Amino acid sequence: NRTRLIAGNWKMNETYSEGVTLAQDLANALSDGAEGVEVVVCPPFVDLKGVASVIEFDKAPFGLGAQDVYWEPKGAYTGAISTDMLKSVGCTYCIIGHSERREYFHETDADINKKMIALLAAGLKPISCCGESLEVREAGQQVDFVVGQVKEDLAGVELATGDELVIAYEPIWAIGTGKTATPEDAQEVCGAIRACLVELYGEDIAGRVRILYGGSAKPGNVAGFLAEEDVDGALVGGASLVASDFAAMVEKA
Ligand code: 13P
Repeated sequence: NRTRLIAGNWKMNETYSEGVTLAQDLANALSDGAEGVEVVVCPPFVDLKGVASVIEFDKAPFGLGAQDVYWEPKGAYTGAISTDMLKSVGCTYCIIGHSERREYFHETDADINKKMIALLAAGLKPISCCGESLEVREAGQQVDFVVGQVKEDLAGVELATGDELVIAYEPIWAIGTGKTATPEDAQEVCGAIRACLVELYGEDIAGRVRILYGGSAKPGNVAGFLAEEDVDGALVGGASLVASDFAAMVEKA
């Protein structure tokens, strides 16, 4: 009874005008509706307002998320973006802890925890990413590793209902490589994440948190992931930049 969620992470793609065009294309591609599925796009910061306008004027059936946030409310933090700024342009979601932010921008689980707390306090829904490297997977340590990340990212975090949190399991070796995990691989880790949430928050709240799979998710493979018990949607990179592909994934959800 969890509403499925298909979220597009545009990463560092699309200028302002390109982003508006992609959002319009997606609105058209989804014009038959996204019945029973929640759809969110996460463009770069500078595209957010333009995409928000498309959502408003084209009555597009998708919501808006950012790709990162800073935890301080305001002040001398050059280059940073606050939760209030995200809300002011219409965001309701925000990705945190993406493996690319962890790798290239040295984000730690302690940072992600602060972002999580700031987002929830602001009424924004975190899409909190976790996932293991190839090295960890080859050592068979993926479950312990990912559950460890989730516990650190959620340290001291209180949840009201569970609806306000999304966790995205993205094995790093499957991101942008064309190499997907199997649905069974995804379920193994997503099931372990759910069990960890039960331990932390009890069955009711854990049963309402959406857990997404990400990593070379495409129209041709998304249904296999969604058939798994603890996979409630997908976080889509490359395929979210092609409106027809992303719409096809929503249709299969
Ligand atoms: P790809 O779908 O391009 O593999 O990217 C996945 C991802 O990192 C989404 O956040």
